[in-house]
Amino acid sequence: ASEDIASPKRTKELMQKYGFVLKKSLGQNFLIDQNVLHNIVSAAELDETKGALEIGPGIGALTQQLAKRAGKVVAVEIDQRLLPMLEETLAPYPQAEVVHGDVLKVDLQALFKDKFQDVSKVSVVANLPYYVTTPILMKLLEERLPLENIVVMIQKEVAERMAAKPGGKEYGSLSIAVQYYCEPEVVAIVPQTVFIPQPNVDSAVIKLKVREKPAVEVEDEAFFFDVMQASFVQRRKTIYNNLAAKYFDKESKPDLERLLLDAGIAPSRRGETLSIEEYAKLSHRLADYLK
Ligand code: SAM
Repeated sequence: ASEDIASPKRTKELMQKYGFVLKKSLGQNFLIDQNVLHNIVSAAELDETKGALEIGPGIGALTQQLAKRAGKVVAVEIDQRLLPMLEETLAPYPQAEVVHGDVLKVDLQALFKDKFQDVSKVSVVANLPYYVTTPILMKLLEERLPLENIVVMIQKEVAERMAAKPGGKEYGSLSIAVQYYCEPEVVAIVPQTVFIPQPNVDSAVIKLKVREKPAVEVEDEAFFFDVMQASFVQRRKTIYNNLAAKYFDKESKPDLERLLLDAGIAPSRRGETLSIEEYAKLSHRLADYLK
């Protein structure tokens, strides 16, 4: 077996050999701990019939472990300076392929058709650059890519918001957006010491099991998301006040009270107490009313 890339010694050696200077602006915090990598990879449930899409392979620490298990690995890396390093570290793994590009701009539908036609299922597995965590995850989910799992290292606080249940202060539009598409589970909390350089926040590995169909059936998805977002615009205000501000005028306000009561939602509740099912119901009634 080839030497593991994820150790402090090997990471420093490689960076020195290539004169590589880390770029903070690209969220470059490299993993140097095999146990954490093992946790990430095993949560993804890979085998040789499956594929993995990695975002930001860095010098290949995670890519190497993915290639040992999956039938095909495609890793999208934005930083051109890393390409020669990846060529060296991934040389023993022909099933791993690096694509140079910004994941937010890459045509992922085309990439899936092109690279993953020989595998049964694909999961996203990555130690994400924290400055673009939410845009990357929302792109993966909104594009409805045929994914099995998304297992990613992200900022702990963001992981907690994604997995939050109604009622707490972590619960918000991010929780609902993620839970609409996936079943989230925080797999591990990870200390800063497993990275070079150490980030100044704690991290967590979150597993998002992608649902076959969304958690609730909604007629107009865009409107459902609008209503939900409007309900959190002023977190301390009631659902009534937030929705009134967005969709009603002075004369029509009493209709909102009736509409909420008809939907079984007390107007005095706050957005953070409503379940995803309640948001679905509310958006249907509101859409009918506004027609
Ligand atoms: N996977 C490696 C590891 O675990 O050691 C590196 C993880 S590091 C946190 C994030 C990586 O994402 C870096 O290699 C960075 O260059 C890359 N990256 C940052 N923004 C990106 C983007 N928009 N598209 C693709 N890769 C990106």
